[in-house]
Amino acid sequence: MSWQDDASRDLVRSFGDRMAMFVRGEGAYLWDADGRRYLDFLAGIAVNSLGHAHPVFVEAIATQAATLAHVSNYFATPPQLALASRLKRLAGTGDEGRVYFGNSGAEANEAAFKLARLHGAAGDGVAARPRILALRDAFHGRTMGTLALTGKPYMQEPFLPMVPGVEFIDSTIDALEAALDDRVAALFVEPIKGEAGVIDLPEGYLTAARELTRKRGALLIIDEIQTGAGRTGEWFAFQHAGIAPDAITVAKGIGGGFPIGALITFGSASNLFYPGTHGSTFGGNALGTAVAGAVLEEIESAGLVANAAERGRQLRAAIDGLDSPLVSGCRGQGLLVGVGLHHPVAKAVVAAAQEHGLIINAPNDETIRLVPALTIGDVEIDEFVELFGAALRTVEDALVLDPSEEISA
Ligand SMILES: *Cc1c(COP(=O)(O)O)cnc(C)c1O
Repeated sequence: MSWQDDASRDLVRSFGDRMAMFVRGEGAYLWDADGRRYLDFLAGIAVNSLGHAHPVFVEAIATQAATLAHVSNYFATPPQLALASRLKRLAGTGDEGRVYFGNSGAEANEAAFKLARLHGAAGDGVAARPRILALRDAFHGRTMGTLALTGKPYMQEPFLPMVPGVEFIDSTIDALEAALDDRVAALFVEPIKGEAGVIDLPEGYLTAARELTRKRGALLIIDEIQTGAGRTGEWFAFQHAGIAPDAITVAKGIGGGFPIGALITFGSASNLFYPGTHGSTFGGNALGTAVAGAVLEEIESAGLVANAAERGRQLRAAIDGLDSPLVSGCRGQGLLVGVGLHHPVAKAVVAAAQEHGLIINAPNDETIRLVPALTIGDVEIDEFVELFGAALRTVEDALVLDPSEEISA
């Protein structure tokens, strides 16, 4: 029996066929069971911030596991308090901020959803603000609450009815202005829509969203699960806009491969939860928070936020330099890169790249998503350009491109 047979027999069918089986990783590289090496520009979907098997990550897990892994949220532990304080500092909440720990992005957004409801009901327990706004096409998770926030009808359809109260709007300032009123509890924003194809918000959107939500008394909640932990060249994408939101959610790159998520609140939103309103058995345990603390410390001390900005520029320039007839241009920021294609052949490019020893991802048929480790340098970028160029040429040669399939910009 092959591993493919085992996978198709034993694993839940909610995912498509596994594309490879990896047995080992080191830095920006992965190895399969046949000993073949791959350059990894997916990094577990923007998760392995330090690459694979980074000594800081390994040491943090080993040391904390041998010291104290878990005691429940009846008790505090030093790594948990240190990580909360670090996240507040990096997010710039000031003293008033607070941190709720969960184990995933969806759990962080579930907490944010409940924060929005508490804000909506603030005062007399009546839902004075029953409306929640979210952006069409944005992705916030797969649990019932976060699916209700996710503006993708095809994802919701098999699971109707949704948790009520969420309305979807276009990602324009006009649409936001038209939708906002005094019955809106919160606006959820994904600052760069990763799963939708690395789609940037319109210029000035976050600044306008901050002003408009403040005027109407609604919370501005920013989902930094894919964009956070330095990936876009700032610690969090909202910081490019110089605003202060009411809450952000983080996960993915924060733990560098260890499952952890968090809701970070700012200002008076920090006083909405009260004892008994939310919780998690594993959330914020000593092991997870020690690992995330060590990962963030390394991102900080090794200057990896600046590296993400610089390498992002370098990568974009190199992709432009390939001059491929398939490529329409790059989107995103820092090391969250979406490569737009003129034809719906992204899946073929991903398959060709894997053949050439490169792991990349296609969030849709017209986009390649690149989210490598924040540690990459010249060597990895040069190798990427060679392999990606070869993959593009393979697809260009193999497909008789039908000009009628051209994607309009
Ligand atoms: C990945 C992601 C999530 C969900 O995180 P999980 O850990 O898979 O639950 C939510 N929001 C955004 C923007 C994401 O990229």
